[in-house]
Amino acid sequence: MAAQLGVSLHPARSVWIELWNGKHALGWDYHGTPVFRFGWAPAGLATRRQLRAMHMCPGGHEPYAVLAWRKGKRWAWLYRLDLAKPSRRATPAVLNALDKAMRARRTCGQCRREQTYCIPTADGRCNDCIDAANYSYAA
Ligand SMILES: [Zn+2]
Repeated sequence: MAAQLGVSLHPARSVWIELWNGKHALGWDYHGTPVFRFGWAPAGLATRRQLRAMHMCPGGHEPYAVLAWRKGKRWAWLYRLDLAKPSRRATPAVLNALDKAMRARRTCGQCRREQTYCIPTADGRCNDCIDAANYSYAA
């Protein structure tokens, strides 16, 4: 979003904008799209980045408003949280790869048995093998 928002965010030009939920918030009107200043955006709206942090996505909905900061030099779309959807689940291929990776982390480098816990990466051996080795050193 390199383009500068061609809208004056002067306080004198701010207007009360009626929101989708019937509430009102102070912002600016930009060709019919509400513009809110950073920190002044009404509750119930989130940027794509904020949605992602919540494991949500816009769900195919158009942005509702614009969030502007640094006098409109920086801006981002705002989406309605009530229309947002959970992010797409991991595909089977991704899950399979994850499972494989976890299995590798649980497999002992010495006896090759899969354990119920993750093998310490520094050692690479399961507890049984470490214990057995310690025992033989001690004996
Ligand atoms: Zn082992």
